[in-house]
Amino acid sequence: MGSKSVRFRCHSCGHCCTDVICLPTPWDIVRMVRDIRVDPKKFLDFIKPDEITEVEEDDPTWIKVRNQKYLMGLKRGAKGCFFLDKKDRTCTIYDSRPLLCRLYPFCHEETRDGKHLGFSLHKDVGCPRHRDGVVSVEPLKALLDEEEEHRRDYRDLVEVFNRREYPGKSPKDFISLFVEIQSKTKTPKTAKA
Ligand code: SF4
Ligand code: SF4
Repeated sequence: MGSKSVRFRCHSCGHCCTDVICLPTPWDIVRMVRDIRVDPKKFLDFIKPDEITEVEEDDPTWIKVRNQKYLMGLKRGAKGCFFLDKKDRTCTIYDSRPLLCRLYPFCHEETRDGKHLGFSLHKDVGCPRHRDGVVSVEPLKALLDEEEEHRRDYRDLVEVFNRREYPGKSPKDFISLFVEIQSKTKTPKTAKA
């Protein structure tokens, strides 16, 4: 069933926190807010199709408001992600960071019939892919499974949101929708690694 490890070491070049837009899931945000106690409207942005590439047009996480599509992402400026320390270039919420940040730059490999095969390194996401380390596959697979569960919930929430029509609807209302649902559930889903 594939290799138990993948050769990689992060050399903290900062590319993934500067040049890549991070797309968190609602559960990531709920967990981040629980940990860092910051209003999500301060660190989230709603990105239009011409601001992002490599997300399919029919991706089910596009939020729709009056014929315009948006993706929910972490805010960023010229120097990178909202959560990147601008001096030492480290993540200021490392233990609470979104699942996609934890999975970068790993790429899941599957058999033709969709069975788990292993992990490799994405060739086209800009990471220099240094091979002088060893990363165990087991925690990556746990993260991937969790990410897939998050995505299923995410799709359901977007479907509910996109069906709602009312005057003054704004992409930011999507945040209120999942914060409202979360407040009625017991515990935020947590990242395992
Ligand atoms: S792009 Fe790769 S090497 Fe650079 S900080 Fe991100 S994971 Fe580390
Ligand atoms: S949340 Fe942290 S790890 Fe993720 S892009 Fe922002 S600074 Fe980088």
